[in-house]
Amino acid sequence: MDPLSARPSQSVLTVDLDAIVANYRTLAARLKGAACAGVVKADAYGLGVHRVAPALAAAGCREFFVAHLGEGLAVREVTPRDARVYVLHGLLAGEEDEFRASSLTPVLNDLEQIARWSAVAKSRGMRLPAAVHVDTGMSRLGLPAAEAKTLAADPSRLEALDVRYVMSHLACAEETGNPLNPAQLAEFTRFRQAFPQLKASLANSSGIFLGPAYHFDLVRPGCALYGINPLLQQPNPLRQVARLEGKILQIHEVDPPRTVGYGATHRVAGRTRIATVAAGYADGWPRSLSSRGSAFIGDSRVPVIGRVSMDLTTLDVTAVPAAKAGDTVELMGERIPVDEVAETAGTIGYEILTRLGARYHRVYTGGPAAAAQ
Ligand SMILES: *Cc1c(COP(=O)(O)O)cnc(C)c1O
Repeated sequence: MDPLSARPSQSVLTVDLDAIVANYRTLAARLKGAACAGVVKADAYGLGVHRVAPALAAAGCREFFVAHLGEGLAVREVTPRDARVYVLHGLLAGEEDEFRASSLTPVLNDLEQIARWSAVAKSRGMRLPAAVHVDTGMSRLGLPAAEAKTLAADPSRLEALDVRYVMSHLACAEETGNPLNPAQLAEFTRFRQAFPQLKASLANSSGIFLGPAYHFDLVRPGCALYGINPLLQQPNPLRQVARLEGKILQIHEVDPPRTVGYGATHRVAGRTRIATVAAGYADGWPRSLSSRGSAFIGDSRVPVIGRVSMDLTTLDVTAVPAAKAGDTVELMGERIPVDEVAETAGTIGYEILTRLGARYHRVYTGGPAAAAQ
């Protein structure tokens, strides 16, 4: 164990595995016949794939998506043998043996990868599993339009492979009225006509809520599993998963004309009680929350004052005379959902979760181990 996780900071990140499972079930319940994957790239959006993937597997999830080979190997180790692990970054040159030996499924992103994986399959005399990603509007990963056309004109290029899914990825799924959604759906549907026998996958979390036309055979939610709202300007149908509690290290009673923190950006207006909390931008608590963010002490919401520094955040707790060193404050959780933290910080919930880092004391609640006890 590395020294950081052996003796973490006094602040606590609690990950509610039961909430992840409940969110998985909420999403799966919207499907009629389509399967529900779990996207667990980036260490399950920062929450710990070694705990999240087994919890999803226990809930019935058998298709997992990660970004790169190393993440795939990690997920392979903690999921059942019959689970399929897809690697979105594709099949990089030199990775073929490891993909095969570890039964990882590459998401093939261009004709060259299709040819190279097919050559391995032929040389082994076996059909190797793959997904084929076609770009329909992201211009990021997947077969570009010209290559998709070439492939559609010659489907035999896939005959050496066991193609589990053809897939694409939506650019604006959270904007239900965006015309790019039906445009991508139409382009994907056109591409699929060349492969009527192959299963298909298009929707991420938000795409699930665009309706059954977007579901095909498999949906690929990530953010919604972790409590991020996949809907813009509508109530969140998912449960919060991550709770962040900061430890108060010290209380300062100050009178004007004192200032608070680096840059002296905050000047106290009257007698003020300041709580210094053990969380800063090195913990993934964004510096952009300086003088903007807030926290809960008991039932009181208190503002961040001054700059968030590397390891510390200062709160104005004048309104909570009982607050004392050793207490904990809620920085994120039921009352300050991840989406609110993100909006205040000028970013998205995905970035908040994936940056939480390894410094907190991590606690997992619920999940398969708890159920077995
Ligand atoms: C990250 C990702 C997803 C999951 O997206 P969410 O918005 O988090 O649900 C699905 N598909 C692909 C290709 C992705 O890269």
